[in-house]
Amino acid sequence: MATNKILVVEDEAPIREMIVFHLSRAGYETLEAADCRSARELLADERPDLALVDWMLPDMSGLELTRQLKRDKDNDELAIIMLTARADEFDKIAGLEGGADDYVTKPFSPRELIARIQAVLRRSGSDNDDTVSSGVLTLDAAGHRVSANGTEIKLGPTEYRLLKFLMTHPDRVYSRSQLLDRVWGANVYVEERTVDVHVRRLRKALAAEAADDYIQTVRGAGYRFSSRGSQ
Ligand code: CA
Repeated sequence: MATNKILVVEDEAPIREMIVFHLSRAGYETLEAADCRSARELLADERPDLALVDWMLPDMSGLELTRQLKRDKDNDELAIIMLTARADEFDKIAGLEGGADDYVTKPFSPRELIARIQAVLRRSGSDNDDTVSSGVLTLDAAGHRVSANGTEIKLGPTEYRLLKFLMTHPDRVYSRSQLLDRVWGANVYVEERTVDVHVRRLRKALAAEAADDYIQTVRGAGYRFSSRGSQ
């Protein structure tokens, strides 16, 4: 079962540990950062679905981090919930205008925090239980299953992640290095030709159901998932 990955950016260790404890208990995978610098590294390497960002952090404000992340195309799918001890309306607006998807004021109950996280993940579409379909292909993220015309296609974990990324970003060309960043994670040392190897395996698996035409090579540029198949 696929789980959502949540990054907790909070410099106060007792609060961070309390949040992580409740998130783990609710079934989320968690990552922890005590400052913006390490948050950025984890974002690039681990690609979480959502970040809980405290307003007051030692190296940069959580608001500035949120602004930067929302401007950055590499993080366009990251949902952000800001945490703050400040309750006034001005900060709430500043947080939301800075690009945060929601805002939780300290002190909060774990139950409330988890309800807000669930709501934001549903809205942002990064809820991993979603099913994505395109033509004859269906990817069931909850069951980690892919089928073509109802017949299950067995994929390795990397081919599955690659197909999921491509199916959720159709009709756009991605270079090998962009695919490495988005599917493997930045700062993971993998050669670009590794992408070709996995694309080949993915196509081979899809070809068994004559569905390999969805994955197109764009010469000199990279790969694209065509939502129209081979037409
Ligand atoms: Ca803090």
